[in-house]
Amino acid sequence: MADERGVPEPRAGEKEELKSMFTKKTVRDIDVKGKRVLVRVDFNVPITDGEVEDDTRICSALPTIQYLKEEGAKIVLVTHLGRPKGEVVDEFRLDPVAHYLNEKLGIPVKKLNRSVNGEVSEAVDSMSPGDIVLLENIRFYPGESKNDPEFASKLASIADIYVSDAFGTSHRAHASVVGVTDYLPSVAGFLLESEIDHLENLMKFPKHPFFAVLGGNKISDKIGVIDKLIDNVDGILTGGGMCFTFLKAKGLSVGNSLVEEEQLDMARGILKKAREKGVSFYLPSDVIIAEEISKEATSKVATVDNIPDGWMGLDIGPQTIDIYQPVLARAKTIFWNGPMGVFEIEAFSQGTLRVAEAIAEQTRKGALSIVGGGDSDAALKRFGLEDKISFVSTGGGASMKVLEGADLPGVMALEDKEL
Ligand code: ADP
Ligand code: MG
Repeated sequence: MADERGVPEPRAGEKEELKSMFTKKTVRDIDVKGKRVLVRVDFNVPITDGEVEDDTRICSALPTIQYLKEEGAKIVLVTHLGRPKGEVVDEFRLDPVAHYLNEKLGIPVKKLNRSVNGEVSEAVDSMSPGDIVLLENIRFYPGESKNDPEFASKLASIADIYVSDAFGTSHRAHASVVGVTDYLPSVAGFLLESEIDHLENLMKFPKHPFFAVLGGNKISDKIGVIDKLIDNVDGILTGGGMCFTFLKAKGLSVGNSLVEEEQLDMARGILKKAREKGVSFYLPSDVIIAEEISKEATSKVATVDNIPDGWMGLDIGPQTIDIYQPVLARAKTIFWNGPMGVFEIEAFSQGTLRVAEAIAEQTRKGALSIVGGGDSDAALKRFGLEDKISFVSTGGGASMKVLEGADLPGVMALEDKEL
């Protein structure tokens, strides 16, 4: 959703209530006319047989690109794709992305085969205002991940201004994210600003009741976020693989379900903190169990005090769904991270589907809903519910960092707004 100039408009539930929390300069604060602007985007999209499979990340950066184009900037896009580990890997070349921009999105982009030196300065020298060039995968160069100053300065040397719109990469101190900001005036794009505004508003000014729905496979990745959420929410609804560590911490036997033994104490600590703060901590009362994670596996419903040895919980059960739905129906704010079950397999997808539907319905009624996490986003897409959520973050790791209250190196490095 964007107006003619490509500036994003608020979606359902956000209205005008979003407070601006962003303290960095953005593309609106500088004059880019005729300037060479190096724009770090996150076009790390899934590609199968040379075709872009999911264009969410590309489309999220379009408002910034369109704005710069209309303002008459010469736009040089830089991104990574996959993990080529500092060498040229043909499979990770950006040609499919350039093709997608040119053919599917109608945005004329000239793709180069390098990111620095030779061909790059020549191509940039011959650009006219509004032209767009896409550099080759920046992770083909070892200097990128090492944040090598010499490499960063080479990359910066072809531009007058740096714009970061790569929210999904902004938790990494890489040359094209942090290093370049030593050499160029550096500001944020609309996506970066919008991500930070949404995530910070969620933690600082949530409307109550505020519920978090947490699932997925590991609590170890999410401890920091869970801990912070307890300070802000009225309740946490759990599912997915992570709930079994909590169930085990409470003394239940969970068969072969996913358990992080080394997190049991941490889980007990979280349960205690929730109790002390009066935050309702919901664990499933029943689960769908099977002996293996496969399409062919026989599955059945079991209460959580009755998971047989050799079986594992792979989704929340019908009784749990019936308990979670009315809780979500009271929410004014919802944050969701992590599927409720192994939603990739039909037999274990109901919990995630029902919870996603409940969040979508509550959003329709005016609640603010924010979803973070690559797999949660994939689940929403599979169910066709992505448009029914107020805001879906494009950055898994980066959004978790913001919610933890940590500073993102790629944001810190940008220029502060003048007050
Ligand atoms: P996100 O990417 O949204 O943050 P995670 O990466 O934490 O989510 O977890 C997603 C994965 O968790 C999915 O691939 C899903 O199959 C898996 N998962 C969900 N529930 C279970 C479960 N009960 N046991 C094992 N894996 C699970
Ligand atoms: Mg994931």
